[in-house]
Amino acid sequence: MAVEWNAHRFSGGALALSAANTVVMRLDPGKMFDRFDDAGELPRFAAAATVHCAAEFDGATIAVADPAHDKATVIAVREAVDRLFRHQARDGVHAAAALADLLAIGATALAGIDADLPVVWTESGNGPRDLPLSAAMTLSALSLLRREMAGRIKICPNCAWLFVDKSRNAARLWCDMAVCGNRAKAKRHYRRRKTEVRQGSD
Ligand SMILES: [Zn+2]
Repeated sequence: MAVEWNAHRFSGGALALSAANTVVMRLDPGKMFDRFDDAGELPRFAAAATVHCAAEFDGATIAVADPAHDKATVIAVREAVDRLFRHQARDGVHAAAALADLLAIGATALAGIDADLPVVWTESGNGPRDLPLSAAMTLSALSLLRREMAGRIKICPNCAWLFVDKSRNAARLWCDMAVCGNRAKAKRHYRRRKTEVRQGSD
């Protein structure tokens, strides 16, 4: 079934991380699946990214020209992003080899793009009008390397998604409070009820 690429699926807060999160249950080999196994999802994801990541890319249209052809690069960028930033989230450092992988595949993704890229992306409409998905993911990942991101790339303890914590005091726990925060609350409530019932029957 085709997935609905809604706002929740972009709760990574940066295109690179939301793309990394298209591998579902990444840390559970028994349940893990890749939403990009079907190359047809790539243009649908890109169209949704155009909407949900409009502020990140100055409203550029993010596109996948040839899904079957572009899939390998998109997935290679995505996996390099996941390795680099998951390591950062866990250990607070970058593995040099993971950064090298991202730069190498990122160079492939950006090669051949004939566009002036703004140094600072704003919403002024000065950015390119179109960006291939793999290039946009690379630019997004590079923007996450800046100093202010230290301590702000996190892993959701419920779903293992990567996300940027943009909260003022960097205390956000969940990728999406409305989804994972509530699930965790429901689980806690269920456990408490179970304990109460058990104690009540003693
Ligand atoms: Zn989550």
